[in-house]
Amino acid sequence: LQESDPVEDHAITVCVRKRPLNMKEVDRNEPDVISVLSKNHIVVHEPKLSVYLTKFLENQHFIFDYAFDESCSNDLVYKYTAKPLVQTVFKGGVATCFAYGQTGSGKTHTMGGNFLGKTQNFQKGIYAMVGEDIFRYCTSPEYNALNLTVSASFYEIYNGEVFDLLAKRTKLRILEDDKQQVQIMGLTERAVNSVDELLQVIQHGTRTRTSGKTAANASSSRSHAVLQIVVRAPSIKNIHGKFSLIDLAGNETAGDMSSANRQRRLEGAEINKSLLALKECIRALGRKGAHLPFRGSKLTHILRDSFIGVNSKTCMIVMISPSMKSCEYSLNTLRYADHVKEH
Ligand code: ADP
Ligand code: MG
Repeated sequence: LQESDPVEDHAITVCVRKRPLNMKEVDRNEPDVISVLSKNHIVVHEPKLSVYLTKFLENQHFIFDYAFDESCSNDLVYKYTAKPLVQTVFKGGVATCFAYGQTGSGKTHTMGGNFLGKTQNFQKGIYAMVGEDIFRYCTSPEYNALNLTVSASFYEIYNGEVFDLLAKRTKLRILEDDKQQVQIMGLTERAVNSVDELLQVIQHGTRTRTSGKTAANASSSRSHAVLQIVVRAPSIKNIHGKFSLIDLAGNETAGDMSSANRQRRLEGAEINKSLLALKECIRALGRKGAHLPFRGSKLTHILRDSFIGVNSKTCMIVMISPSMKSCEYSLNTLRYADHVKEH
């Protein structure tokens, strides 16, 4: 994989990442049902029973732009997914990177890394690596003289409502102006002058997301987290780029209709709606004149910029857990991703 160069001219890149079996799964002797056969080919070995009750494996094949096996690092995943999109921001465009998958499949590990908490096996996440590259561009000979400014916002979309992760989870309103531009009223936007300052903002928001005991953060798996990095040129109009990085709600929570808890069912319906709208909006990105159903959910409404315009580029990293127990979810995840990539 290292030998080829990342694809840079696609409006949409869809990749899949398999995480390793964790200690618990290894201890339980969970079989690994996922194989990455080549740099873009992944197979699910689904255990089945025939009509005569004999067991067999049904191999389900999927092809994506890239497939990362359990040995791949965050660095490598970054190189083939979000990294090629950084230049979009400096051309005044909108770059967007989604992490999609079941809870526990590695979305937050991929996006945020594991710099909070454990120092062993420290790995930077995509947030930090995008930040580093953005500042590298800003100080490069080509852009240095423009005195570009960088700022960051971090918010959560939970049950169709927006909460500011940089302002103690204040609930915010969304307004749409007459040009269909969507604005989140009062959203904190922190100016950052260095990678370190950006990392502090990210850490602050991440802590807010995972701490406390309000309904909204009872489980971060039920909310979408959006980190937005904006680059502006004070003197010129044409550089005003944006990179949005989204750690999506666990897709297994979307089908949570059987729950006895009414609140959980409503959340599940909202998540379902947003993930379906997201799929349709990303598909529309690759098709001229396609209907863009961004009003289908708060998530897609807020991210409207990501789906319009010639300057929008998106990548989706689809995470899957390798264990047999997750097999059905992994298949659902891969089928969803398959639809996203087709256009
Ligand atoms: P999610 O955000 O999708 O719910 P997490 O990112 O929290 O999942 O991952 C669940 C657990 O698995 C975490 O302990 C994380 O460190 C670990 N993990 C996820 N992906 C990997 C990976 N590629 N390599 C090693 N550990 C991983
Ligand atoms: Mg997570």
